[in-house]
Amino acid sequence: MNNEQKWQAVAEHDDQYDGLFFVGVKSTKIFCQPSCKSKLPLRKNVLFFENVTQAKEAGYRSCKRCRPDLLDNQHKEIVETEMEYIHKIKSPVGILTVSSNGQRISGLWMEGQKYFAKTLGKDISERNLPIFKEVRKWLDIYFSGKEPDFMLPLIPKGSPFQQSIWDRLCKIPYGQTTTYGEIAIQFELEHKGKHTSARAVGNAVGHNPVSILIPCHRVIGKNGYPTGYAGGIDKKIKLLKLEGINIKNL
Ligand SMILES: [Zn+2]
Repeated sequence: MNNEQKWQAVAEHDDQYDGLFFVGVKSTKIFCQPSCKSKLPLRKNVLFFENVTQAKEAGYRSCKRCRPDLLDNQHKEIVETEMEYIHKIKSPVGILTVSSNGQRISGLWMEGQKYFAKTLGKDISERNLPIFKEVRKWLDIYFSGKEPDFMLPLIPKGSPFQQSIWDRLCKIPYGQTTTYGEIAIQFELEHKGKHTSARAVGNAVGHNPVSILIPCHRVIGKNGYPTGYAGGIDKKIKLLKLEGINIKNL
């Protein structure tokens, strides 16, 4: 891959190249993954690194938004196997089971959740990896009633339709809600010629494998009621209240 191809991937926020190379921004001394959603730097300010160590040795700091330090290609062998790792974390909404391929979070389920661990593969091992420490850090901030100032790299497994709905969920700001119908309208606007319904959206939302981090709890019914939640309606209300959202009582 030459530098022009790398720049192309960066300009398109192409996540296929995440972990294969890293992008340094000379003006800020921060390095990113190719797919980072932060503002695109100027081409002249960009240089490329092979791995995290190289970037750090050059005096660059890891971007807080895309967390390239968690996606070091020196550990790439973990990603190339089908292996998934799980770890349990205590929280105010009960014990959470978090799964990861070692670099990205593939699942976060609450106890008794519908579709619990449904997307997990066969090769699972319980292990406390560095990324789970980051998840704990994120959750500690979240459950203290604050909006975490960083995001974790995610890799939820699902159909292209589900993926696009989950992407939309990630765009609902902290402390705000939307409805299934609004998401359906947004989807149709973005995918010209494709049709969907509030019901199909509801189904995709319900199958979200990464609870809380992909904030499906911020989707409510059009009448303002919290409606369903795969993790249980009481937990959804708890999360909404935690974010300072006033919801109607059932
Ligand atoms: Zn970044």
